[in-house]
Amino acid sequence: MSLNEIVAHMRRLLCMIMIAPWAAAGAVGASGFAGGLGVALAGGALSLGLAPVAIAQPAAPPPPAARDEFRVTLLGTGSPAPNMRRFGPGVLVQAGGKVLLIDCGRGVTQRLRQAGLKLGQVDALFITHLHSDHIVGIPDLWLTGWLEAEYAQRPGPFVVYGPAGTGQLMDGLTRAFDWDIKARIADQNLKPDVIRAEVTEFLQGVIYDRDGVKVTAITVDHGELLNPAFGFRVDYGGRSVTVSGDTRFSENLISQASGSDLLIHQVAAVRPELLKNPVIKVILAHHTKPDEAGVVFSRVKPRLAVFYHFVLLGMPGTPPVNEKDVFEQARQTYDGPLLIGEDLMAFRLDAGSVVQIAPRTP
Ligand SMILES: [Zn+2]
Ligand SMILES: [Zn+2]
Repeated sequence: MSLNEIVAHMRRLLCMIMIAPWAAAGAVGASGFAGGLGVALAGGALSLGLAPVAIAQPAAPPPPAARDEFRVTLLGTGSPAPNMRRFGPGVLVQAGGKVLLIDCGRGVTQRLRQAGLKLGQVDALFITHLHSDHIVGIPDLWLTGWLEAEYAQRPGPFVVYGPAGTGQLMDGLTRAFDWDIKARIADQNLKPDVIRAEVTEFLQGVIYDRDGVKVTAITVDHGELLNPAFGFRVDYGGRSVTVSGDTRFSENLISQASGSDLLIHQVAAVRPELLKNPVIKVILAHHTKPDEAGVVFSRVKPRLAVFYHFVLLGMPGTPPVNEKDVFEQARQTYDGPLLIGEDLMAFRLDAGSVVQIAPRTP
């Protein structure tokens, strides 16, 4: 290959990488989902057989959400596996001037900054369940958000809604970080009230209702030894988003998510031969498979369905399935609007439509 040919090849590759994440947007054939640029580009990308897997981080975050806007940002779409592309679970919901965070996995603080927010802007954290991948980012958000630096500046206590055990978690963290907390109060004169955790443990039903923003905790089914586990539905101004949390196929989720404009659902998949492995079998039994999620989407009929919390396991000699496989398996049971979620993907919920506002083209 000549130098010119190599350069041309690299350009073509770069072009594919830029358009690949949009391919899924165009693939949805969406009614009511405004995928923007994706629709125009998707045909070309799909005809090349590309998986919608590449990253296209926004050059800059979307402008700050207007007070009456309903915006949902995927801060983290990963699972326990350390992955530079998919940080730990975290979904940011901005509605009616409130900033609500669902789960706080690894790297949520960095993603919050990338989304253009200060750590201290989070009004309340809602925890789906206490598996570490959903809460391991809490110490960072809680402690770093306390600082007076421009990127932090929480104005009051750290507000947390979580299942039974959340109080114990925050008490334990307070003990674990005792030295830091005392040192910063004495040395930096930080306010003791702002490092205080204000915890509400919930069972199910409406757990938050302020200024027209309502959060409903939905009991889901993560497995006998892992329950209680919850999903959340956020309603504001006649629009709503539902986030599944970790669950097997859940009838309750389907009924509670009914009428949601946006449905964000976890997914787990492996190659069939790996199900012989007892450890992998147990993990898969705790999660929803792509075709099962497709059934959920078909019955809820959201304006847009999005996968997040990808549990795609492999073993030496057996690579994990990829997101394109997940998409195609879901297509066996669902033919409506569907996206493979990516970190920092953001949506605006308008009356009658869900609009993807990030990633944007530079
Ligand atoms: Zn999880
Ligand atoms: Zn879990």
